[in-house]
Amino acid sequence: MRGGDARKLTVVLRKADGDEVEIVDSGGAAFKAMLVVESGRVRARLTEALAPPAVEALQIVLAQAIPKASKMDYVVEKATELGVARIIPVLTERTAGTFARAGKTERWRRLARSAAQQCGRRDVPEIDEASTWDEFCAQLATFDRTLIPWELAEPVPLRDRLPGLLAGVRSAAIAIGPEGGFSHAEVERGTDSGAVTISLGRRILRTETAGLVVCGILRYATGDL
Ligand code: SAH
Repeated sequence: MRGGDARKLTVVLRKADGDEVEIVDSGGAAFKAMLVVESGRVRARLTEALAPPAVEALQIVLAQAIPKASKMDYVVEKATELGVARIIPVLTERTAGTFARAGKTERWRRLARSAAQQCGRRDVPEIDEASTWDEFCAQLATFDRTLIPWELAEPVPLRDRLPGLLAGVRSAAIAIGPEGGFSHAEVERGTDSGAVTISLGRRILRTETAGLVVCGILRYATGDL
């Protein structure tokens, strides 16, 4: 390594010749390695292959209606920290107009990669190209369970509902609406396709908060946290 990566290791992380580090390749395989630092150039000598990571009890897919400004950056970073397997940016009735710029998906993929590195996660969440709500609903059969947090859902505490909703479930998608919320027609389309609406309590959470809260709750409920 030279340049940015080498600088990050030696200057930012203060790693020196002979230090032991853990290296993860693009396929998620991890190794112990010893650093060899010579005149601005850093090499890593692999010393040991590490066991594959434990499989998560629940695979979480976050379908996030693309929020305004840079809020999606925040969602990508935090969802990565919470171990989400895949993020689907979704265009909904009340968001479609705000997503015009090209290159966003690449930016989110880069952010996911660096967030995964930073939190010691071996794999990097997959980030889809943006889907419409209908395209997302057409995939619901591929998840064991899809939850749509909806502020108008019956206010039953999640603590009481989750055991039933998660029984035998290995993969769950969470669909979060934009700042303006889902339309009734969208929620109906989702439930017609097999999704279940849930309430997140009396307070309205911001779009960038709601998905992260549900991810945290699901991780806790499945013993991963
Ligand atoms: N504009 C809407 C709120 C949208 S909040 C309103 O004021 O009524 C953005 C998204 O977060 C929602 O679409 C929903 O998916 C989720 N959300 C926020 N608070 C929620 C709550 N109390 N219960 C269920 N879902 C919630």
